[in-house]
Amino acid sequence: MTTHKDKLYTSVKNKIREVSQTLNLSQSVKTILRQPKNEIIVNFPVKMDNGDLKLFKGYRIQHNNVLGPFKGGLRFHPCVNLDEVKALAALMTIKCSLVDLPLGGGKGGIKFDPTKLSQAELERVTRRFVSALGSNISPVHDIPAPDVGTNAQIMVWMMDTYMNLAGPNEKHLARGIVTGKTIECGGTLGREQATGRGVVMCIEEWAKVNNVDISSLTYSVQGFGNVGSWAADALNILGAKLTAVNDHTGTIIDSSGIDVNRLRAYVKENGGVKGFDKLEERSRESFFSHQCDIMVPAALENQITEEEAEVMNMKLIAEGANGPTTPEAEKILLQKGVEFIPDVLANAGGVTVSYFEWVQNRTRDSWTEEEVNTKLRRKLQKAYKEVAELQKEQNVDMRTACYMKSIKNLENVYLQRGIFP
Ligand code: NAD
Repeated sequence: MTTHKDKLYTSVKNKIREVSQTLNLSQSVKTILRQPKNEIIVNFPVKMDNGDLKLFKGYRIQHNNVLGPFKGGLRFHPCVNLDEVKALAALMTIKCSLVDLPLGGGKGGIKFDPTKLSQAELERVTRRFVSALGSNISPVHDIPAPDVGTNAQIMVWMMDTYMNLAGPNEKHLARGIVTGKTIECGGTLGREQATGRGVVMCIEEWAKVNNVDISSLTYSVQGFGNVGSWAADALNILGAKLTAVNDHTGTIIDSSGIDVNRLRAYVKENGGVKGFDKLEERSRESFFSHQCDIMVPAALENQITEEEAEVMNMKLIAEGANGPTTPEAEKILLQKGVEFIPDVLANAGGVTVSYFEWVQNRTRDSWTEEEVNTKLRRKLQKAYKEVAELQKEQNVDMRTACYMKSIKNLENVYLQRGIFP
């Protein structure tokens, strides 16, 4: 029986299988894509502030590297589990191939609640995880990045640990071991905003195709962390109106418009949206049934199930999160005429700018934020246009078109390289 926990893994696996059949993919490539290349699990002890030793379980899944080094985020969350990380790693393979990055798919995580630890404990957990992973990660083999529960500070601790363990000749190239670092420690301008900004660049493409004026639209956001808050910031700049937000602390709704900048400052200070502007506490259901033009899910996977889909009615869902919509819910929403910009395209801005950071680290260069954003827009516009053309030509939904383009690209590379031995 499929449980909520392994639901994402099942749906990603099924989607890859379904599209592989439609494409009549070669049997060997089908077999390769069925499972990740490497599944690394480490159990490591960390000393807590009170002197006790606690055991942590960490994962790094390396799904596919036919296009380049494994690349993908690192999640610190109590629900992290093997199947979830496997699914997220497979999504990274699809995403990198879709937007033509010379990178493969990976993902990692540690199962714990980072909000329950002191900063000193969090630092020790992070550093001990890097040492436990050892040579399984490297700037030319597997390059982690931030995801749920991790941030630039955690990336810098990872980098510092790795650099301290590297020999003198590798030390400075070792800076590229992670992306999403602070600017001072080798990060790139625009990385923090990249995923949310990328979501909105895709929405802009959708608006062009549909002849819609974004400044006349209302939108809601689920999750007001990195992705959700920066997507809101970019939509705010374009003049759209934020009318509902849901996160792990609660739901706020204000049809006259929620102030994005003040909400960001409030969430930073209070850890969630609950209590903002003394707005009345609303139910989770009222967030999904709230009438608006666009929804940006930017929290966790499996948030939109059949139950939520039944009450939802917007023009567009732009998936900032990975796997926020179950296949059953997507079916209901497509039947209602709701359009999707699927996760593998909508949130690909994050890995794209991570790639830009990695390139700058390797070439010892630094680009302006304008350069980063111009290159990001070019990448996403090209991918969006190609996917939209394929969708029309094949008469399929947009997620299927994304997977078709991505998997076909992977197959071409495998067929040219041949299968070893
Ligand atoms: P984050 O930790 O900064 O924020 C997560 C948000 O989700 C928080 O606002 C939290 O309140 C909310 N949340 C958690 N549990 C919830 C629940 N049960 N109900 C409602 N809200 C809940 O994480 P993030 O980096 O913004 O990542 C969000 C999503 O975007 C994830 O699916 C992640 O994989 C995906 N993503 C992130 C990046 C990136 O660059 N950070 C890139 C691509 C995709």
